[in-house]
Amino acid sequence: NEVRTITILGSTGSIGCNTLSLVEDNPQAWRVLALTAHSNVDLLAEQAKRVGAQLAVIADPAKFAALKDALAGSDVRAAAGPDALLEAAELPADWVMAAIVGAAGLKPTMKAIERGAIIGLANKECLVCAGDLVMKAVQTHGATLLPVDSEHNAIFQVFDFARPEGVSKIILTASGGPFRTHPLASLQDVTPQQAVKHPNWAMGAKISVDSASMMNKGLELIEAYHLFPLAEDRIEILIHPQSVIHSMVAFVDGSVLAQLGSPDMRTPIAYSLAWPARMKAPVKPLDLAEIARLDFEVPDLVRFPALRMARDALRAGGSSPTILNAANEIAVAAFLEKRIGFLDITSIVEECLSAMPSVDLGCLDDVYEIDSRARAQAASCVNALV
Ligand code: NDP
Ligand code: MG
Repeated sequence: NEVRTITILGSTGSIGCNTLSLVEDNPQAWRVLALTAHSNVDLLAEQAKRVGAQLAVIADPAKFAALKDALAGSDVRAAAGPDALLEAAELPADWVMAAIVGAAGLKPTMKAIERGAIIGLANKECLVCAGDLVMKAVQTHGATLLPVDSEHNAIFQVFDFARPEGVSKIILTASGGPFRTHPLASLQDVTPQQAVKHPNWAMGAKISVDSASMMNKGLELIEAYHLFPLAEDRIEILIHPQSVIHSMVAFVDGSVLAQLGSPDMRTPIAYSLAWPARMKAPVKPLDLAEIARLDFEVPDLVRFPALRMARDALRAGGSSPTILNAANEIAVAAFLEKRIGFLDITSIVEECLSAMPSVDLGCLDDVYEIDSRARAQAASCVNALV
């Protein structure tokens, strides 16, 4: 029963707060080294003082003075800016939760990978924009990547890594989000408020909008492709509105194994924290009698073009997933700011993908270059609409 050290990248977010609460419930098992946030100084400082972290990093350099003030009189060291974020990832924590949202999480996550840490990966955009390079680095540096995303965590729990040839396909379940049955004619006019109101899960704003457009499932398709040794055509997407089955693995003998649970991220987070053991998590036990029924349907690619675009981008390979992700981040932010309509999100992503043909990504600098070009392209699409 050794104490393990942990760093949480993105500790002030939805995944970050859930992770910290599980860690704080088990003070005998964990010691916190570093916590990071983007701009939420007050929460970051409060968390860091509460758990006695060594280092608190605010990514926005303009917030450094405020963080220093908030931490005055404590033993927590304050730091700010992109290099400090990397420094947090480089501290020798045994375990790192990668819970920054978006491609902004790529660099710090890579730093943790490069020192061979155990990493709980919530930040799916990392694998979408640089999957081949990330997985190669995991191999080279002997890091351990534990999927936190509920679908991938479910598959990780039931996938037979010892006999991968026995697996015939994986089935990613999707709730279908808040607009699964919304009239198509008024989808363009839904508000950010409606989009972030997920029927089953409480999550950060960006992933909630991604769930509404089902781009989230598209990103998860690409994420699954990198995490599990299966070709793209062996990864299926199935709508399951209750979000009770978190995903399934089908085997060549006809068996299908599923992982079930209440829709609560503390379960997959706890699984990754305790892996390969299990730990208690304060989650409502699954009551199947109360749920009574589980429904399934084939996703509608007309309603949810993001699914088709993500699969095409994965097939095209190279820089296409990077472009898809970057354009989506810009479009989602513009939608949240009420600058564009809901359907404009996927139109912009599609426009960027056709404007920027796929090229090979040899190194991370190639990723950053394509990422920033796609962001500029998407920003000009946004400006053309407003
Ligand atoms: P939130 O928006 O709730 O939190 C994001 C975190 O990242 C915050 O700590 C935020 O700081 C920080 N952050 C944001 N932008 C930057 C930046 N540019 N540089 C450094 N830090 C930044 O997101 P979620 O917790 O919902 O999601 C985190 C990741 O986990 C995403 O990739 C998401 O797809 C994935 N995920 C989330 C699930 C969920 O249930 N929430 C489920 C499955 C996957 P600040 O608070 O200061 O803004
Ligand atoms: Mg998910």
